[in-house]
Amino acid sequence: MQIFGMRKKGKSIIKCDKCSRIINKAKPKWKKVGDIEYYYLKCPRCKAVYTISATDTALRRDIKRFEEMTAKAQAQGRKPTEKEIQEAQELLQANVARNREIKAQYPLEIKL
Ligand SMILES: [Zn+2]
Repeated sequence: MQIFGMRKKGKSIIKCDKCSRIINKAKPKWKKVGDIEYYYLKCPRCKAVYTISATDTALRRDIKRFEEMTAKAQAQGRKPTEKEIQEAQELLQANVARNREIKAQYPLEIKL
């Protein structure tokens, strides 16, 4: 799946790998299976499913922590310090890696 650009309200333009259809205004759907929360897109033509993100409780907590980290300096009306930027970057990378792991470990199954 190729993402061409984001539009307003989290909608994006993507291209389906399987049938090459351009999906305009793609808006991710949400689904929860056990502890795992998914955002995914479904191709309207060939019904291929693309998982955008998969998170468990621990990852959702870390994503919230990242948001708090990045909002902290702004809330205090100052620029983030080098250390804060570095910590936020490391946490973001860990979160992205964890997201990928969860996606690989718990692939989303959609019944058609
Ligand atoms: Zn398709």
